Amino acid sequence: MNRKRISLVFLMAMLYIASGLSQKKISELLKDKSLELNKVEDYVLDKKIIPPQCGSIYHPDTTDKELNYYKKNSSPNNDAKYVINVFFHIICKNDGTREVPIDENNIIDAVATLNNKFNQFNIFFKYKGFNNINNTNKLTIFYGLQGQTPFGTFTELVQYSKSINKYQGDSFNIFIVDKIFNNNIQYIQYSGMANKKGVNSVIDDEYLLTSTLPHEIGHNLSLLHTYHNWNKSNCELANANDNVDDTIPSTTFSGDQVNSDCLTYTGTNSNTKCNINFPQVPANNFMSPSTLPCRSLNNAIFTEGQGLRMRTAIQQNLYTKFADVMSSTESLYQPYSSEIILGEITHTEPDPNNIGNEIIYRTPSTYKHKFQKGFDYEFYQTKAPCNTPGKLRLEHSITKNEEPEDTGYVRAVRIKQLGNDIIVYTCLGGYKGKANNSVPINSILIISKESLGDNKYQTQILGINDLKKNPNYEQKLPPNKYYFIRKMLENGMLIKKTIYKIDI
Ligand SMILES: [Zn+2]
Repeated sequence: MNRKRISLVFLMAMLYIASGLSQKKISELLKDKSLELNKVEDYVLDKKIIPPQCGSIYHPDTTDKELNYYKKNSSPNNDAKYVINVFFHIICKNDGTREVPIDENNIIDAVATLNNKFNQFNIFFKYKGFNNINNTNKLTIFYGLQGQTPFGTFTELVQYSKSINKYQGDSFNIFIVDKIFNNNIQYIQYSGMANKKGVNSVIDDEYLLTSTLPHEIGHNLSLLHTYHNWNKSNCELANANDNVDDTIPSTTFSGDQVNSDCLTYTGTNSNTKCNINFPQVPANNFMSPSTLPCRSLNNAIFTEGQGLRMRTAIQQNLYTKFADVMSSTESLYQPYSSEIILGEITHTEPDPNNIGNEIIYRTPSTYKHKFQKGFDYEFYQTKAPCNTPGKLRLEHSITKNEEPEDTGYVRAVRIKQLGNDIIVYTCLGGYKGKANNSVPINSILIISKESLGDNKYQTQILGINDLKKNPNYEQKLPPNKYYFIRKMLENGMLIKKTIYKIDI
């Protein structure tokens, strides 16, 4: 080995270590919350970190057959809106913790990202929820494995989630893990993997809110990498490349082999094979191999051809592969969570029909509804019957970058991205009148004094059984004293009352 070669190996090793250190840094920053998940792309760009690529590798035979398939099938581009349910699995350690914290807000942001990038093709995503899978050995996923190991592949992770009844058959299942590697020998890191024309994908937690997520969902909806067939010996395949007409022919390339215009290829791969010229590469395409700076979430695009390909894939699998995961456009008008906000307490009194309980009276309670982010909303008040919008009054509007919330009973909503329809999304008439409820008393503490300024006092505690035996305890208290009564209710409320008994 000559000196030049040695120094090159040394340089590569240093780069590898530096890159490894940077990777570790991201998860540490996310862990101590000095970096937000949606700022990872900016950070990676700023620190010139080379992010890992997608690990989805598809069997050539399948995709070659597909080429002929797509040649024969042209798709009518109608206006049908497709709504796909998405469900997330957060993989955690056995004890339920994880290095990079992921909460529902991050997942809502992820669904908003998908809607922002796919709505242009009339493809929508309905958030169906998330769960945690606590298994340390499932935090790291491998494309391939050698020898005896407690770890598993992506397919095994999907199987495992089914075996513990966490898998959601009615949704796209998106698994969020700690790390994805090609195998347990080389440990080349991947940012995500997906079943092509399928319903499952896995993503490295650090890259949840980057262009990796739309990329993987693009695979689910049948898209290939833009460079897919470039190196095939069959020139027909090489020319077809990703089988999409309006993505320019591309070779594989890394971030440093494209100019700052995100188009001009500066690498050395042959560009004369099969007479294909690729002086340019679609570096800002979501399905391109290299990520930053060109394939950032803000900069990246899907082409019209890719949109048509995805719609065709959905349409052709509506009653087969995608049959269970499709939802209605109406489902997008439904809040993903509705929480009761109790009214202010006005007064309380003992429940005459249920001794040992206290009735709590409130101003009317209401519902707080949360909607998924990523759409422009208009919320209306309506006094109409529940199944028609009736007379409407616009109350407030929320734009796609805000967190949409609405409160009330009979409410109607318009989602601009879905057109002009105004849908009554909730009808909870009747609840409003119920402004009181009966709550069991746990215990009563009675402090008695001769006068208000007296330092001496006596205490007595009544339990629930004492109260049931002696419901009129207040009337039986000896006269000519002050009584401070403290009722502790089962729901944690404390009711205070002061009385003075006079001798009549
Ligand atoms: Zn990919």
